[in-house]
Amino acid sequence: MNASSVHAPPPAQDAGPDHVLVLNSGSSSLKYQLIDMTTGARPATGLVERIGEETSRVVHTPAAGRGSRRERSGRVADHHAALRTVARELSADGVGLDSPRLAAIGHRVVHGGQVFTEPAVVDEGVLAEIERLVPLAPLHNPANLAGIRTAMDLRPDLPQVAVFDTAFHTTIPQAAARYAIDVDTADAHRVRRYGFHGTSHAYVSRATARLLGKDPADVNVIVLHLGNGASAAAVRGGCCVETSMGLTPLEGLVMGTRSGDVDPAVVFHLMRVGGMSADEVDELLNTRSGLLGLCGENDMREIQRRRAEGDQQAGLAFDIYAHRLRKYIGAYYAVLGRLDALAFTAGVGENSAQVREAAVAGLDGLGLAVDAERNTAPGGGARLVSPPGARVAVAVVPTDEEMEIANQTYTLVKP
Ligand code: ADP
Repeated sequence: MNASSVHAPPPAQDAGPDHVLVLNSGSSSLKYQLIDMTTGARPATGLVERIGEETSRVVHTPAAGRGSRRERSGRVADHHAALRTVARELSADGVGLDSPRLAAIGHRVVHGGQVFTEPAVVDEGVLAEIERLVPLAPLHNPANLAGIRTAMDLRPDLPQVAVFDTAFHTTIPQAAARYAIDVDTADAHRVRRYGFHGTSHAYVSRATARLLGKDPADVNVIVLHLGNGASAAAVRGGCCVETSMGLTPLEGLVMGTRSGDVDPAVVFHLMRVGGMSADEVDELLNTRSGLLGLCGENDMREIQRRRAEGDQQAGLAFDIYAHRLRKYIGAYYAVLGRLDALAFTAGVGENSAQVREAAVAGLDGLGLAVDAERNTAPGGGARLVSPPGARVAVAVVPTDEEMEIANQTYTLVKP
């Protein structure tokens, strides 16, 4: 490892345990944020990527005024080594894994099934349950478990809290959560709609209510989380009642590389007539479809650029993406009955005025429209982009999944 400059900040003193470390462990990456729960400040953020490869990379970014960004490269063998590296970086910034100021570690866990309706302080029973859910999230839950186990090894005395991507959706009623297939078969294999991006939908739906100056309990919101993965959620009075991702994150909206909704018979057709295996169709629908499959590009910025130059393939990909959004907005409006706000979030939702405009185009009859000037005005925070006095507020609300995980974690463990 080649270290660039190492900065020694002033050591934290005397305060109680008021920091939460948020860990998001992927199969080959570990992202982290240290959050001061008294101020909401983030003393440090960072990531370790390409874990297990020769070319692993560590990027550690202390908060402004606390030192400079540090980047190292070289092999980080596994999650254990990755977290030890993170611990060293954090120690150099004053609140290391061994710091008395650390109240807990909050872990993002993708699949909590129907069991975890709330975050959980990790014990052997919780670990066993997350393990039992591995068949439902074969790529994600094992990586999340590796992160938790590693953190427990390094700080066995510290509370570890699992915060589940699915938990916010466990309030979805049966009528929306069940697929119309044979009940015994579905139950035997735990087939139902679980939904994902739950921490983001929870955070954004509440932040939207705040933006409107209302209590979340009084507000009905449709949240469109449009990142590389994308999902919609209908939230009534703070509770999720419908979401677009299902048994897996493949269902619903058109995404960067995922198809979203297709007739399930497309799968049989490709297997029987196209000679593809189940794994090949899985790979096609998850990694070579969506915007990428439609026009060879999954970055919305590039698609918009090509579309502006008259590229028809990019134009069609954009239209298919926007059409699916309008369909879901209309459907979720009907599910909610009354709609107070439509909130756009994540990389595309927060940054693409064109997508926001196209998503509500023609929906004036539903009280939905964007104001051209507000929609295109630069600005980073939560803001309204609907015309003044609009019947339904259209908002841009930056998501903050790490803060949501930290809040949920701290609520469980704070002294
Ligand atoms: P992830 O699901 O990987 O967390 P993000 O929420 O970071 O994704 O969103 C990533 C996507 O955001 C990129 O693929 C890109 O298409 C889109 N994006 C980022 N900035 C802009 C922008 N200025 N205009 C349009 N799209 C953008």
